[in-house]
Amino acid sequence: MENILRARLMLALLCVCCPAYAFQVGTTDFTKGVTKVLPVRDNVTVIQIRTPQDLNNVVVLTGRDGYLLVDHPEPAANPAIQRALDDLGKRPVKFLLNTHWHYDHVGGNEIYGPDAIIVAHENVRKRLMTKQTPFWSPTPIGPYPERAWPRITFRDMVTIHFAGEDIEMDHYANGHTDTDSVVYFARANVVDVGDIYDGKGSYAGGADMEGIAHSLSAVLERINDDTVIITGHSEMSNRRELAEYVPLLDQTIALVRQEIAAGKSEKEVADAGLPEIWKPWFAPQAVPAGHDFVRQIYATLNHTDILDQ
Ligand SMILES: [Zn+2]
Ligand SMILES: [Zn+2]
Repeated sequence: MENILRARLMLALLCVCCPAYAFQVGTTDFTKGVTKVLPVRDNVTVIQIRTPQDLNNVVVLTGRDGYLLVDHPEPAANPAIQRALDDLGKRPVKFLLNTHWHYDHVGGNEIYGPDAIIVAHENVRKRLMTKQTPFWSPTPIGPYPERAWPRITFRDMVTIHFAGEDIEMDHYANGHTDTDSVVYFARANVVDVGDIYDGKGSYAGGADMEGIAHSLSAVLERINDDTVIITGHSEMSNRRELAEYVPLLDQTIALVRQEIAAGKSEKEVADAGLPEIWKPWFAPQAVPAGHDFVRQIYATLNHTDILDQ
């Protein structure tokens, strides 16, 4: 029972970064999607698909003899993505990187897997190989077919050398999930952080909020003022914005820690919502209640079971 309760809470928590209806596989209507091809820098491009339910980014690195992609939403998005790739020059997909195991990031695996090399954190492979019952999905997910499984996996980091780029994938900590990677394009000075950050005026939830804070601090240290930050579901961001967000997250975690020490319950802390320090981040919009975001921080600090992610 407690597990069921937690599952419901956690569903609400994760929904802070994506609309609730996006959490059921197959509910994003890509036939109503509007696709944009956004040049980023050098040979890095983003294919951005905006549907009524969500916004999804696919990073494309173009080489002479093929593409390297980071993430791909559900297979239903593939016609639009393939059209955009064909417009870029009709090359084959050689590499496909997954920032984490969620279905809205690994949907290209079964399509490109037979020919492309899929690279991801080792826990992505583990999760795709077996049936998952995450709390946020009304139905079980997977197992995915073998062609969708990553063929190269890593524990801490791996570097791929392709199309004149050095592409580094780092797993800093369990955060949004236990499968997270941050993907750096060294030459182009671009980083794809997946779902651990959601850009200006938004916030991103996950299974371990301290892990997210730790990972984002590592990203901040690594990048510079010219770095382009790409996320799973928002417009592009930059170091200035991330440097504004990370202290807010850190301070909120510290505040919740104090409240736990003072004996406050999860409900009391969650009901209080986001502190006013967030005002400039959301301006000109009002600070959202953020009950679930705060509850998730409480759960993280209480070391409750956060595995069903
Ligand atoms: Zn996700
Ligand atoms: Zn996502």
